[in-house]
Amino acid sequence: MQIQKNISIKQFNTFGVDVKANLFVELKNENFLNELFSSVNEIPNRFILGGGSNVLFTKDFNGIIIKNLLPGIEKIGEDNNFVFIKTGAGVNWHKLVKYSIKNNYWGIENLSLIPGTVGAAPIQNIGAYGQELKNVFHQLETFDLQNNQFKTFAKDECKFGYRDSIFKKEFKNRFLITSVTLKLSKKEDAILTYQPVKEEIDRLKINKPSISQISEIICNIRRSKLPDPNKLGNAGSFFKNPEITEKKYLELKKANNDIKGFKTENNKYKISAGWLIEKCGWKGKRVGDVSSFEKQALVLVNVGKATGKDILDFAESIKEIVKVKFGIELKEEINIV
Ligand SMILES: Cc1cc2nc3c(=O)[nH]c(=O)nc-3n(C[C@H](O)[C@H](O)[C@H](O)COP(=O)(O)OP(=O)(O)OC[C@H]3O[C@@H](n4cnc5c(N)ncnc54)[C@H](O)[C@@H]3O)c2cc1C
Repeated sequence: MQIQKNISIKQFNTFGVDVKANLFVELKNENFLNELFSSVNEIPNRFILGGGSNVLFTKDFNGIIIKNLLPGIEKIGEDNNFVFIKTGAGVNWHKLVKYSIKNNYWGIENLSLIPGTVGAAPIQNIGAYGQELKNVFHQLETFDLQNNQFKTFAKDECKFGYRDSIFKKEFKNRFLITSVTLKLSKKEDAILTYQPVKEEIDRLKINKPSISQISEIICNIRRSKLPDPNKLGNAGSFFKNPEITEKKYLELKKANNDIKGFKTENNKYKISAGWLIEKCGWKGKRVGDVSSFEKQALVLVNVGKATGKDILDFAESIKEIVKVKFGIELKEEINIV
């Protein structure tokens, strides 16, 4: 295990922001955790990095970045209906999706092509196309950076919410996730609630889509809507979709009949942050080397050599203008460092 000094992490974040970390280490084997954290005991500033697809670095990182590369996908149990799949936190998320499709294990096909690692998936309870990680989650294993001990978290302990978990709140930066175990279904369990997926299935005249057909449809929709981080720096949705009261929603609906929103379990209305940004005239808008993506206003892109600070300033301007026009406060989905 080699600790590198003063290295650029441009290639390790999908915004392609060029900042330096004064210490950087790749973690490939969990047996080294004790050794690693004993040796960096006196460095208080530590950051666990996966694929860097949900993070914005705004300045050089003064501390140690631990790039999680813990490997392995393993079936650790099963019954008539379910399998339990334990995966190393450093495994690429879509690789796990492909494994589950190959084996006909249902549950994560709707989460196809989400960038990043398996270990980061529980942090914000990744979700897309009618599915969320929490619905297939069993447990995860961690290394506690405060007392250098391993600890397992059951589903309830993770306090999953909309793009949220305990690891974004009171346990932020405290636990390094080493593996995640999912409970996937051996029996067909298609989730076809998302309108564009349904439409595509109808268009293709598929009667009963297979797990691989669903994944393929979702990959195609994603490729047509979202920028590829390998070609255009971005971190997906920059903001969460805000939840507002029914009164506020009806007020907005009266003035804007094209507003997109749906009722949540807690009797609020979740509305599209992309729609709010678009209505403020910021879809496709560019300032310097930062732009809101032309096909999806919620995605901010680095069109050249934008710094993290440039992207943050752009995001602040969006927040301000949405607040003034609609009285709604947007909250970041991505992690700002
Ligand atoms: C084009 C694009 C599309 C996207 N679409 C979606 C989508 O549809 N749905 C969705 O939910 N997200 C989406 N995202 C966001 C992102 O892909 C996910 O949040 C993903 O889970 C981040 O994984 P990562 O490994 O890149 O995490 P990173 O960006 O490396 O880290 C994110 C956070 O998790 C922490 N972290 C990472 N690994 C660990 C670990 N092992 N232990 C403890 N903490 C850790 C980091 O410290 C950081 O705070 C998209 C991003 C892009 C670029």
